[in-house]
Amino acid sequence: MKVENLSSRDKKYLWHPLTQHKLGKPQLPITSAKGALLFDESGKDYIDGIASWYTVMYGHANDTIVSAMTEQMQKLDFVMFSGLTHEPAIELSEKLMAILPDNQAKLFFNDNGSTAIEAAIKMSLQYFHNNGEKRDTLIAFEDGFHGDTFGAMSASGLSSYNGPFEDFLLKVVRIPTPKEDNIEEVKSKLSEILKENSCAAFIFEPLVQGAAGMKFHSAQGLDELIGLCQQHEVLCIADEIMTGFGKTGKNFASDNLSNKPDVICLSKALTAGMFPLSITSCTQKIYNRFLSDEVHKGFFHAHTFSAHPLGCAAALAGIKLLNSPKILERRNYIENAHNSYADKIKDHKKVKEVRVMGVILAIDLQIEMERYGSLRDELYNFFLQRGVLLRPLGNTIYVLPPFVISNKELQKVYDTIAEALDTF
Ligand SMILES: *Cc1c(COP(=O)(O)O)cnc(C)c1O
Repeated sequence: MKVENLSSRDKKYLWHPLTQHKLGKPQLPITSAKGALLFDESGKDYIDGIASWYTVMYGHANDTIVSAMTEQMQKLDFVMFSGLTHEPAIELSEKLMAILPDNQAKLFFNDNGSTAIEAAIKMSLQYFHNNGEKRDTLIAFEDGFHGDTFGAMSASGLSSYNGPFEDFLLKVVRIPTPKEDNIEEVKSKLSEILKENSCAAFIFEPLVQGAAGMKFHSAQGLDELIGLCQQHEVLCIADEIMTGFGKTGKNFASDNLSNKPDVICLSKALTAGMFPLSITSCTQKIYNRFLSDEVHKGFFHAHTFSAHPLGCAAALAGIKLLNSPKILERRNYIENAHNSYADKIKDHKKVKEVRVMGVILAIDLQIEMERYGSLRDELYNFFLQRGVLLRPLGNTIYVLPPFVISNKELQKVYDTIAEALDTF
């Protein structure tokens, strides 16, 4: 009997996300993973240069996290979070409150990034509804990304994802991200919007727009925009799903702001990539708006797997690691190594711009795109052949490795990018 390999079995019944199945190569089967490495069927290894969509920051199959989850699974696997509660969620709320910005007071659990955003949007709309106000407009950045469910997609400004659904989205008005040279311009555009619309919330990826190509913007500029919104009682929602848990240098990108967001969304590295779980945190003032003798003024929104104990256990173990001496040493090392590497390649003729924030390194390429069917796909395959997993976004290559990547592995990622710069 012929044993079919995983690639051909995959093709038979599976439909992959973000994939045009008529084009492109088969999906690469991964059979195991450890630390910063992924292994395929033949035993070939690949360095996970983007921490599997910036989730597994403490490395794949991290022993501490695996044992915390195993222990939890044997004690309490799962219960509903409506009417019942459990220690992992309670302890996680205590540990998170200790590191979140001071104005955060309540945590609402969901099960993935998009649903954290949905909860944030619905919370904002109902916040005004409960007060007899109808505020129907959201403010968001151009090219933001907030997820693929309808509310989240409405807030997202990347038209490549939204095309077929444009007619069915919530009302959103957009502003450019603030840079050193346009802050006044963006502020006056925002003032106009605030005057002409009934705005409920401003939703943004603080400091770094991930899916847009790891684009950075000004913390001071964002701070001023939040200030303006808050003057109009518009709720400010920081989507820290990508930036949270040490990516930008601090625990949260919001730690760089003096005007703190009213709502913060967390997922991805929250559970160290080990379990789908997310949190929408908010201020006491928002929470209080839902307290009433009228039942329907509560927040009637739930996901079956809210606050799954396994996810909470993974998150608790992850938070303990985040600022442990060993991980702090790695976070510093990676940031310094990124900076030295950026210095080295910044004048390369194929490099248009290179930027570093925390453990994020992004390189915008200056390459004649016309010479390639899809430069992005060719780069992706080039890296994969050399044992490095990177997913370029358009003509931006970015590296966002697990904190535990070894010096040698990180150097190999850099060398492979250097080779690509000389090849393409
Ligand atoms: C990944 C991501 C989301 C969506 O999270 P999912 O778990 O994929 O639904 C939302 N916002 C940002 C900034 C993200 O990076």
